[in-house]
Amino acid sequence: MNFDAPILSSPIEYLKGVGPLRADILKKELQIFTFRDLLDHFPLRHIDRTKITQLASVSPSMEYIQVAGTIQSMQVLGENRGRRLVAQLKDGTGILELVWFQGINWIQKNIQIGQAYLVYGKTGYFNGMLQLTHPEMEVYTPAKAGGKAFLEPIYPSTEKLKAKSLGGRQLGKLMFTLLEALQERDLPENLPARLLQEYQFPSRYEAYQQIHFPISELAYQRALARLKFEELFIAQLRLGLIKLERHRYSRGVIFSQVGEHFNNFYHNHLPFALTNAQKRVLKEIRQDMAHGRQMNRLLQGDVGSGKTIVALLSMLLAVDNGFQASLMAPTEILATQHYQGLSALLKEMPVKIALLTGSTKAAARKKILKELAAGDLHLLVGTHALLEDPVQFRQLGLAIIDEQHRFGVAQRARLWKKANIPPHVLVMTATPIPRTLAMTAYGDLDYSIIDELPPGRQPITTVHRFDYSRGQVMDFIKEEIQKGRQAYCIFPLIEESEKLDLENLMRGYENIKAFFPEPKYWISMVHGRMAPDIKETNMQRFVQNDTQIMVATTVIEVGVNVPNASVMVIESAEKFGLSQLHQLRGRVGRGSEKSFCILLTGTQLTNEARERLKIMCATNDGFRIAEKDLELRGPGDIEGTRQSGMLNFKLADLIKDKQWLDAAKYQAAQVLETDPELKREENSALKLYLQAQKGKLAWSRIS
Ligand code: ADP
Ligand code: MG
Repeated sequence: MNFDAPILSSPIEYLKGVGPLRADILKKELQIFTFRDLLDHFPLRHIDRTKITQLASVSPSMEYIQVAGTIQSMQVLGENRGRRLVAQLKDGTGILELVWFQGINWIQKNIQIGQAYLVYGKTGYFNGMLQLTHPEMEVYTPAKAGGKAFLEPIYPSTEKLKAKSLGGRQLGKLMFTLLEALQERDLPENLPARLLQEYQFPSRYEAYQQIHFPISELAYQRALARLKFEELFIAQLRLGLIKLERHRYSRGVIFSQVGEHFNNFYHNHLPFALTNAQKRVLKEIRQDMAHGRQMNRLLQGDVGSGKTIVALLSMLLAVDNGFQASLMAPTEILATQHYQGLSALLKEMPVKIALLTGSTKAAARKKILKELAAGDLHLLVGTHALLEDPVQFRQLGLAIIDEQHRFGVAQRARLWKKANIPPHVLVMTATPIPRTLAMTAYGDLDYSIIDELPPGRQPITTVHRFDYSRGQVMDFIKEEIQKGRQAYCIFPLIEESEKLDLENLMRGYENIKAFFPEPKYWISMVHGRMAPDIKETNMQRFVQNDTQIMVATTVIEVGVNVPNASVMVIESAEKFGLSQLHQLRGRVGRGSEKSFCILLTGTQLTNEARERLKIMCATNDGFRIAEKDLELRGPGDIEGTRQSGMLNFKLADLIKDKQWLDAAKYQAAQVLETDPELKREENSALKLYLQAQKGKLAWSRIS
């Protein structure tokens, strides 16, 4: 079903001026397949066509300039990778160098000495000389300046597109053709009239016209605001509708009582007092599971905040009410650790627990499946193996998923199909997501947060060191090992190929081995391409302190618990994202000893990398780091949010457009409160629009 006119679904090759060849590149380079996709390719900025800067008045502070002049001369300079075409542009007040590194032959043929050009590009300096590299050029006729649009759009483009005359400026010509072909009724209004009035928004059609070819800065700003609001409002509405539907229609099993298992464990076997945050969260979970509708809850807690014990107590509640519970982890190592940890905690309790992973032997597996189906097994811990069809519970009441970001939505759905009445679902994540973001991304989930670490934790000291101080870093590790501690050395996955990554890791391993020779020291190594049993053996040797150093790639990232490890060295730390660095650091500081995280880098760092290292050294607070990560990278890249699909807005920015986000939330809530089924006339366009979207996005109503 379509909401917009069929013309917008036309393949892009049918737009005048495109054709099959250019269509191919548009598809490959910008994922523009249809007229609609082009329409949603929004400009980076606009330039005033009539404004031509004189070369004499160009200053270093101007980032982009538009100049006009004649080409005086052209030369090919340099060799190999330094080979470039340099042209001199003169306008009567000064001279400017234009430089090309690619497509030299083509440009040499097409640009004529003595011809006047309108030139647009980003300024740069080389040997103190102002240059434009790969500028956009068109033959200059005074009539051309001051064309139809006052503000001309400049679009995101790529080198390949530029080579086919589809640079950031030239794409505007296609957009112009497209917009001329569209009429008001092709882009019908989807927002209620009330909102257009309240915020003084232009119509949808008008907004598209003005965001591409604005008649003024103000018109542009209003079009932009409207389209941002629309994006956020529609997203909020969709989430709200899912949540409403779930609350209305999903039955849930009722855990009415807190019984013997829970109480017995709580009073006799709990190894420590719960933190207030743990108590609060547990209460939220208990209430949620007692009310006859399915729980769908996201539990966030920084690394080491103690989510596992909350999971265990919740599972005991299920057992108390005659149900089984499962705990699923993303890796075999993690599942095994959970199993071992929980078994130890439960060893004096009459609760039966088992581990099921891909490497569970056939006989053991058969036994587990039998007991599971008979209801003799209370708790099942495992990996993806839990999702397989033969795994049938007698009565699954609670499904817990640890480290949620490794599991997709579809996988969660498979879990709850394992019971007549869907089990309660608790999703635990250690990837801190800023609260605003979580509410936006997971607006359909209920949300709990453990915002307090267990008492007695010593903050981890984090420092940044350059590669050339590696010797000192190794000496420091020696001192820690002397004291009986252990250390991690983590290598990034950086190359395109696994083979290169492995070589990189091996080199690092040899390097470290040179500092820590056997038999005085022993080193474990773990990486993604290792056979699971070897990986497991190496892990276990480290867990048991048979090896003092663990050299690994990021497979170690989540969950591994070796409280005796006190040093985390992260190699090429500039290659990691903030949340990943934070996750890795969370592997130390788990015991009572003072722990350290050392971020090693080369000396060549981008500003953004510097920022990341700085924030890591400044704080241990996962939520502050997440906020910073969001600021630096934008929400689309934040781990754990990507597959929610709710954060990849084309225009809106959840941080910068907080005002519009709040407005959108408020207005969406208003609509859902007054007209939850969108039956009113004023919401009819909205309803049609949402229905059309639904078909396109294969929307799942699962958490
Ligand atoms: P995470 O939230 O990262 O999964 P864990 O559940 O693994 O954290 O807990 C980290 C460590 O803290 C474990 O060794 C656990 O036994 C301990 N722990 C959890 N809660 C408390 C508490 N309330 N008091 C003291 N130690 C706790
Ligand atoms: Mg955990």
